[in-house]
Amino acid sequence: MNTQNAPQAVVIGAGPAGSYTALHLAKQGIKTIVFEEHPQIGQPAHCAGHISIRSLKTLGLYPLEGIVENTFCAANFYSPQGTKFALQLNCPVTAVLNRTYLDQYIANQAQKAGAEFRLNSRVQTLLIQKGTITGLKIKTNNNTDTLLRAPIVVDAEGISSRLLRQTGLTPLKASGLVYAIETEMDNIEGIEEHAVEVYFGKGYAPGFYGWVIPKPDGTAKVGLATNQGDPRNYLKRLMTKHPVASKQLSKAKILSATYHAISLGGPIPQACSNGFLAVGDCASQIKPTTGGGVIFGLTAAKEAANTASQALTRGDVSTKVLMSYQKRCSELFSFDFKTMLQLRRFLDSLSDEKLDEMLRVCSKLGVDKALRGVTEIDYQGKMLLNVATKPAMIAALAYFALLYLNPS
Ligand SMILES: Cc1cc2nc3c(=O)[nH]c(=O)nc-3n(C[C@H](O)[C@H](O)[C@H](O)COP(=O)(O)OP(=O)(O)OC[C@H]3O[C@@H](n4cnc5c(N)ncnc54)[C@H](O)[C@@H]3O)c2cc1C
Repeated sequence: MNTQNAPQAVVIGAGPAGSYTALHLAKQGIKTIVFEEHPQIGQPAHCAGHISIRSLKTLGLYPLEGIVENTFCAANFYSPQGTKFALQLNCPVTAVLNRTYLDQYIANQAQKAGAEFRLNSRVQTLLIQKGTITGLKIKTNNNTDTLLRAPIVVDAEGISSRLLRQTGLTPLKASGLVYAIETEMDNIEGIEEHAVEVYFGKGYAPGFYGWVIPKPDGTAKVGLATNQGDPRNYLKRLMTKHPVASKQLSKAKILSATYHAISLGGPIPQACSNGFLAVGDCASQIKPTTGGGVIFGLTAAKEAANTASQALTRGDVSTKVLMSYQKRCSELFSFDFKTMLQLRRFLDSLSDEKLDEMLRVCSKLGVDKALRGVTEIDYQGKMLLNVATKPAMIAALAYFALLYLNPS
């Protein structure tokens, strides 16, 4: 067994959250090593990569040339009966990214800033001494075990949260998990190039929804997630039985498919302990409404790097000091997470008939017009507050409140 010394921070996982943390650590002159178990960054990709342009700009990650595959200014929502609620926005609000290229781009930026990346290096266990995380045990693909000590360990291992469990922190809620299939398809018919298609319904995607995200080359990212059963079977059903999707996808050919879980249960109660910070999916920093985790993961990553840097400067990496990361995450996300968790509960509570009625009412009340100027889709609590004064939204929110009290 090898024993190595020296970095000030080690990061587990070269997904967007891990590499973005490394970028911000390295920018502050902190000697950082990132360990990634796969031989290539961004592979295998499991994500649709549908992300808000405004948030990417805020994080200094736009225009992302060669990574953006398409942009969107519209979305069509369908009930299980086929009722359509069409939303047309004033300007492109979201982009679909090639997730492999995005991960590689962020890792590249981190490397340029001075972070070191070690691929084919799986972190096996955390080293823990008297309640403090003091380093890692890593296995490389030539089967060598290495022990590495560092004052700061950042966990960005993604949804498995296997290592986070070793710290004794409360992990993400198993009850909040949905299981997703993400595919690339071609031969899709009757869809608009700059609109995303979204399909609701307990018979098609219980606990979540299905999606088609078109690309200009005629292919599309098609997927769904479900809180029960096998997502493959639900996708088959969506493609053959849904009144709208079955027409759009009747000739579609599946070019590739991946499977992965998404955590919709809201962030873990505490994402730090002595010498340890958790960012991204392993801390369940994912929108409970849409399953989007990239923006919140990146935002938290920057905060984690800032807190780590301050702790290293003070020479104190205790939980007490690292809790300022927790405090910043609460300030940034807490209201939006609470709102999105309520929205998720509301959507899950609706019967298919009520969902159909809801989409009809949204069209009748002119909710589409009230939302036309929206550019913020990540911080959905704040977004709702912004539009809540419009007459159509007041009527819609009153109607949703009634539905919430009497869902079926
Ligand atoms: C089907 C699907 C569609 C999605 N669509 C969207 C979307 O459109 N928009 C959006 O914003 N989000 C989406 N998400 C969520 C998004 O993919 C995640 O929120 C995001 O990838 C989280 O980034 P991360 O860096 O925390 O974790 P990950 O991207 O999962 O990265 C974790 C990394 O850690 C590595 N790793 C794990 N364990 C170890 C170990 N022990 N040692 C070394 N390395 C390790 C992994 O190999 C991986 O590279 C989707 C998710 C799914 C499943």
